[in-house]
Amino acid sequence: MTQSPESDSRTDTLRQSIRAAGLRVTVPRVAVLEALQDNPHSSAEKVTDKVRPVLKGTSSQAVYGILAALTGAGLVRRFDPAGSPALFECRVGDNHHHLVCIRCGAIKDVDCVIGAAPCLTPSDASGFAVFAAEVTFNGLCRECQDFSTPEHID
Ligand SMILES: [Zn+2]
Ligand SMILES: [Zn+2]
Repeated sequence: MTQSPESDSRTDTLRQSIRAAGLRVTVPRVAVLEALQDNPHSSAEKVTDKVRPVLKGTSSQAVYGILAALTGAGLVRRFDPAGSPALFECRVGDNHHHLVCIRCGAIKDVDCVIGAAPCLTPSDASGFAVFAAEVTFNGLCRECQDFSTPEHID
């Protein structure tokens, strides 16, 4: 099997980050991380579709298990938009937020809203030391706003 030098070095970087997170480097773990880098905010189902050509006969349960391990190790972030299956991405540790279109499910990353994490201050922290805030901005994306003009309403 021939691979371009570029994808080799990406695989090396991924292998190093898996090892640095204290996990054993396996082909499925590397394949899942690669799929997420190319397709941020993917469900376990979608990741399974992406890795199937590489990991023949893999199941979405197996991929879900890998995603859970990678999330636990801090390599992957899990995000649960209302009414959608859990989504996963490789962008971790920056406390970014998400804009979600309630009509078509489009998702965009939003950088930290104000200053550094947690970038939002609870009105009452009840004595908690807060280090992260996860905000989902629900709305309609540009395309869906156009689609919602009166003549299109069903
Ligand atoms: Zn939309
Ligand atoms: Zn994101």
